[in-house]
Amino acid sequence: ATPTALMVGTGRGAQLGILIKGPEVLESTRRVDTVVLDKTGTVTTGRMTLLAVHTADAEDEKTVLRLAGALEHASEHPVARAVAAGALERAGALPVPEDFANVPGLGVQGVVEGHAVLVGRRRLLAEWAMELPAALAAAAEEAERSGRTAVAVAWDGRARAVLEVADAVKGTSAEAVRRLRALGLTPVLLTGDNRAVAEAVAAEVGIDEVIAEVLPEDKVAVVRRLQGEGRTVAMVGDGVNDAAALAQADLGLAMGTGTDAAIEAGDLTLVRGDLRVAADAIRLARRTLGTIR
Ligand code: ADP
Ligand code: MG
Repeated sequence: ATPTALMVGTGRGAQLGILIKGPEVLESTRRVDTVVLDKTGTVTTGRMTLLAVHTADAEDEKTVLRLAGALEHASEHPVARAVAAGALERAGALPVPEDFANVPGLGVQGVVEGHAVLVGRRRLLAEWAMELPAALAAAAEEAERSGRTAVAVAWDGRARAVLEVADAVKGTSAEAVRRLRALGLTPVLLTGDNRAVAEAVAAEVGIDEVIAEVLPEDKVAVVRRLQGEGRTVAMVGDGVNDAAALAQADLGLAMGTGTDAAIEAGDLTLVRGDLRVAADAIRLARRTLGTIR
């Protein structure tokens, strides 16, 4: 394409709510055959809410929410925000933790009112040689089959509760997946979340290929593996967790509603965070290059 055609393409991009880093970006859209979609905040709204609290026999809900909420209040993860907001609402003021650490992709751990508290995936509990009692494990599995995230809560060496957190699929995501497929792209859902949750979301939006339970630092390796299989990969993401994968992808598309780290790592920004625009961006770029198939 001529430089003028590229300029027109990028100008039209701005109108559609697409910011393009430079004209050379358009070239990478030509061969893209796979589009990897981050789940939380990209396919889903990422605005989660606390739906239910399941406690082991001896625990009362308020204590669970006080201790779990206190730790999650110190984290910026969307799951953590939902737990902290739900805890504030149901249990009132939250204590300030004496100690706190974020465990990326797994949860949070720390000390609250003298108790050593863990909140997060079962894998985090397993690292401390703890597991959910049968009744709580059943509640967690039931939640996950319905596409909700199960958050385990443990303190002083025992698993005490499971919190159910729900995210909503964006109203535009299924249409976005249809548009991406219409361009000949194979969509892949990539997430750190549980497999059952990921499968439920994928089914809702029409994605067949799911890569779940991926630790934040391993997302980039997934993109590299797909490239190693000979695929040319576009990646769409919003999180700090997605930045390395966005940079590794042949084409990185960042949600404008996401983190600065993702926006800096991407080649393209979807200003309004509308996933349908990812397909528009690829179609526009190909048309600009005169290569629309
Ligand atoms: P995603 O890839 O879905 O954006 P992450 O890789 O950040 O998510 O986290 C993976 C999973 O780990 C989450 O779906 C959640 O189950 C769990 N998790 C991470 N951080 C927290 C936290 N602060 N509290 C509870 N659970 C968490
Ligand atoms: Mg995300």
